[in-house]
Amino acid sequence: MEHPIPPSLLQALKKHKYHLVGKHSAVKRCKWLYESIIHDRACYKQKFYGIKSHQCIQMSPSLFYCTQQCLFCWRAQSGDLQIKWGEMKLPNWDSPQEIVEGSLKAQAKILSGYGGNPKANWQKLTEALTPRHAAISLTGEPTLYGHIGELIRVFHNRGLTTYLVSNGTLPSKLAELSEEPTQLYISVCAPNEKVFKRVCRPQIPKAWVKLTETLTMLPSFRCPTVIRMTLVKGHNTEAIDEYAELVERADPTYIEAKAYMHVGFSSLRLDYRKMPQHKEIRDFAEGLAERTGYSIIDESVESRVVLLNKS
Ligand code: SF4
Ligand code: SF4
Repeated sequence: MEHPIPPSLLQALKKHKYHLVGKHSAVKRCKWLYESIIHDRACYKQKFYGIKSHQCIQMSPSLFYCTQQCLFCWRAQSGDLQIKWGEMKLPNWDSPQEIVEGSLKAQAKILSGYGGNPKANWQKLTEALTPRHAAISLTGEPTLYGHIGELIRVFHNRGLTTYLVSNGTLPSKLAELSEEPTQLYISVCAPNEKVFKRVCRPQIPKAWVKLTETLTMLPSFRCPTVIRMTLVKGHNTEAIDEYAELVERADPTYIEAKAYMHVGFSSLRLDYRKMPQHKEIRDFAEGLAERTGYSIIDESVESRVVLLNKS
């Protein structure tokens, strides 16, 4: 049975510039798409990995659904805005083809707004009309979507690369992916179960155990893997030894240590002073490097993120 999403939530999301696609997916213009076309400034992933910001679609197939309610998350969570819905009451899923076509159309609509902007870089705008990358990362847990491997495959068949960003609480879904993404991100935003329960607020049983299962499975992926740590001042920046143990277990290609940013609906839950400064992220990353075989290879001061890989 379908569980309807409250119209007031849909209105709030539209106001926040989410372009709804089908019943449960969305595209949202990334700030860096705008910055790239208008000010020739790209996101840190262009710097780190070569993803072109102006040709990137930021999307989610699981807009309303997640296994966690992280304090720092920018998505609207049930209970924010006094609007409630079942975040684990999953719908009848749209097909991957519908989601990909709808996402490409939504991106084209977003880009049509730049046509009259005299500051737009015309070469980039022309290139942007052919997206090359899908960041399956916008909001929600994408592995809840029932055809996630097929969605990745359809994007690949359309000539796009993909990043899949998961919270790792559904290891069986990751194990049975019919197509790997171009790069797989697993969020590790707590050093231990106690902090995990407080900061990531899981909505399913044994979520911590499941996350550690995912970490154990990570070396079996052929694609590059990333452990993403979103750090919130006073909440999850301690116990670096325990973070190092989790890294050892997962053996990722990269680690991204990143500051919480006071954006989206997270501002309803956290004060802006909970954003760590870049120096605090750098100190954390240095601590991690000392305890693991990883080295700092790059950083973006503006985005408050430090990249490490295995030396
Ligand atoms: S990779 Fe992420 S930050 Fe960069 S343009 Fe795409 S969605 Fe935005
Ligand atoms: S797992 Fe991701 S989408 Fe879900 S609440 Fe946490 S940050 Fe938000």
